Amino acid sequence: MLKNRTYKVITFGCQMNKSDSERVCGMLDALGAAPFDKEMANVAPVSGSTPATGLTLPPTPDIIIFMTCCVRQAADSRLFGQVAALKDSPALIAVGGCLGQRDGAKLRERLPHIDVVFGTHNITRLPQLLNKALTSGRAQVEVLSDAEADAAYARAALVPVAAEPPKAVRVVAPSEAVGAAAPGTDITPGTDTVLGGDTASEIATVLDGDIASGIATDSDIATASVGALTPAPSIASAPPFSVPARREHPWHAWLPIMSGCNNFCSYCIVPYVRGRERSLPIEQLEAQVAALLADGVVEISLLGQNVNSYGRDLYGQPRFAQLLERLSNLGVPRLRFFTSHPKDLSASIISSFAREAAVMPALHLPVQSGSDRVLRAMNRNYSARHYLRVIESTRQAAESAGKPPVAFSTDVIVGFPGEQESDFEQTLRLVEQVGFAQVFTFIYSPRAGTPAAQLINDIPRQVVQERFQRLVALVQQSAHRFNQYFVGSSLPVLFTGASKRDTSILAGKSPANQTVHVPLPPKHTPHDFAGRIVPVRITEAKTWYLSGQLV
Ligand code: SF4
Repeated sequence: MLKNRTYKVITFGCQMNKSDSERVCGMLDALGAAPFDKEMANVAPVSGSTPATGLTLPPTPDIIIFMTCCVRQAADSRLFGQVAALKDSPALIAVGGCLGQRDGAKLRERLPHIDVVFGTHNITRLPQLLNKALTSGRAQVEVLSDAEADAAYARAALVPVAAEPPKAVRVVAPSEAVGAAAPGTDITPGTDTVLGGDTASEIATVLDGDIASGIATDSDIATASVGALTPAPSIASAPPFSVPARREHPWHAWLPIMSGCNNFCSYCIVPYVRGRERSLPIEQLEAQVAALLADGVVEISLLGQNVNSYGRDLYGQPRFAQLLERLSNLGVPRLRFFTSHPKDLSASIISSFAREAAVMPALHLPVQSGSDRVLRAMNRNYSARHYLRVIESTRQAAESAGKPPVAFSTDVIVGFPGEQESDFEQTLRLVEQVGFAQVFTFIYSPRAGTPAAQLINDIPRQVVQERFQRLVALVQQSAHRFNQYFVGSSLPVLFTGASKRDTSILAGKSPANQTVHVPLPPKHTPHDFAGRIVPVRITEAKTWYLSGQLV
């Protein structure tokens, strides 16, 4: 039924969603469907006519798939707006991803013209659901709970079920963690948590004192995290990882190494829609990486909501640092990973920045706030002091190996309920101290179903906006300062093609993930350089990019 149908995938949100979308495209391609080519459709005068290409193309895709995000209200609202606008479209409409998982059949109550709803655990079922909707003419809704997902993964039998169950521990419900605290008050997570932060000084003690050298070791993290969280599922593999993907670039691959999150940050919906952590076995990842290298991939970005806790559900072995080592040993030229959690960035992961040539000198480490009080309300389980110590250790590790300075990037939430001016100033100080290459700044938006949504948020909008602007100004200075360091140096740049704004300029990425612009040499096309790593002498540094000349 899907053969020769055209489809369009519209993706909202994070890299994990982008990666899921690549798999959706891969599955549909494998079944004979074709990506919708808007330009070709535009030349077709009316639906069903035959354009010059000889293909019969409709003016709209046959199938439109939304891969949704519910992390922020903006993406949520945009999705509803876009789907509502398709009310009279003849296309089959499918909605998946985090909103599909969260709202399931409720989506159709609001938007009855949706034909297929699927969740985060069953993207591999999409072709069947589309087929069923096409043949029956009836809407299909299929969303798996986390427990059902475990059972489905077991049936997929990608890895043997672990012989021993994980250590049973008390689950700290997010509602317990923050209750109905008034804004600005201290919030006390469940008493069984190990890193659960009863007071800021206790967090500092656990994170900065009790653990050797102030940075957690892998075994510290395994113990601490397992003690604080839901028992890990016994099935450690996710079927979505095993389907083909259509990559955006032939030289780059997103590689999910795990899914889900056990952290329950108080503002975050992800653990509810992506489920608990499930790591993919290292052998499967090695096989996938070997295949990607054989296919000409030069840069691999490892993906997970908290990649630092990779392997925790595999009974602690292998851990993320070992994964980095084993993948580096396969000869990957460039390895990156997203996203890390400050409490789980262990000493052995940090030393990977020195040890593994493939690990690029760039680390995205969300801090969210520089105030311990706010961090506790967010249930982040680290202190600002710990965060700074992790940054400094990473910086030193790269420096000791003669690598260029690490480009640190982060996420900051402005206006979390109860954030006072003094809290925000601590955030500004931390941003200044780290000297971030990039900061993704967000204004807090409550997510229904999260503990933080129950908090009273009475910070005036104007105050939040003003704080946001101050932060953005500081971030720009910080990024500009970081880039200045590279003027006069030679960097190996992985070219991606022409600059979006000017086709006479080549664009690429430095090891630190900075955008680099270079004039296109005469008698060449951007295509000649795409996917190649070429040395570039940096001549100028702006806030968001570097300029240079081919060496
Ligand atoms: S670590 Fe926190 S913010 Fe990140 S996905 Fe998990 S719960 Fe959400």
